[in-house]
Amino acid sequence: MIQLDSVTLTFPDGDSRVTAVDRVSLTAHPGTVTGITGPSGSGKSSLLAVAATLIRPDAGAVLIDGVDAARLGAKDASDLRRDRIGIVFQQSNLLPSLTAHEQLTVMNELGRSGSRARRKTVAVRAVEVLDAVGLADHCDKRPHQLSGGQRQRVNIARALMNDPSVLLVDEPTSALDQERGAQIIELILGLTAKLETSTLLVTHDLVHLPRMHAVVTMVDGRLCAVPVLA
Ligand code: ADP
Ligand code: MG
Repeated sequence: MIQLDSVTLTFPDGDSRVTAVDRVSLTAHPGTVTGITGPSGSGKSSLLAVAATLIRPDAGAVLIDGVDAARLGAKDASDLRRDRIGIVFQQSNLLPSLTAHEQLTVMNELGRSGSRARRKTVAVRAVEVLDAVGLADHCDKRPHQLSGGQRQRVNIARALMNDPSVLLVDEPTSALDQERGAQIIELILGLTAKLETSTLLVTHDLVHLPRMHAVVTMVDGRLCAVPVLA
């Protein structure tokens, strides 16, 4: 479960600072998807970066399964991120020369003593999650051999490798047509239910919002009480 408690994040802006996230409180429970919507520049990606423990907030708490990530040191925060948080960024960041399967295994081999048993476990896990996102038959394909929707599935699979309890997804449908976008949203809803992740999903595609368990709207860094629905 993830609980944001009065989170504020500012960035330097010339001589002053711009408030990207302004006292935002938000809770997401296991097995639910909370949609975060709002205009461009309203602070959605900033909020997700704080939830992901990638940026420390100026104030407030970021509780991941009860642990306040905002108070952890860099090493503990990165351990927490690796073990409990799955992140799907807006840009796919897939490496052109790697197969779908390798995109998932490479992260798990960096900076660790790679015993053969561990490599085998990671390889098996990668097949399992590629299957879960519907790519069982595409494990050996490189990004240029996959469609936009399939590449997005690889991103989602990669985020699920370590069986996270919190799944954070930023604008997953922005580069897809309506139908493929809807399929990705359905996939995220299904995985959230099956894996019991607490999911935050940023989208400004209003058609998808009725499928979410909860919807919040950001305007100028703040959460608005009334969702702006189409
Ligand atoms: P959204 O994802 O809703 O489009 P962002 O979170 O990207 O909004 O941006 C919110 C505000 O924070 C904007 O005013 C943006 O210019 C500012 N901002 C975001 N990231 C940075 C950064 N790394 N440095 C300075 N300002 C930033
Ligand atoms: Mg954004």
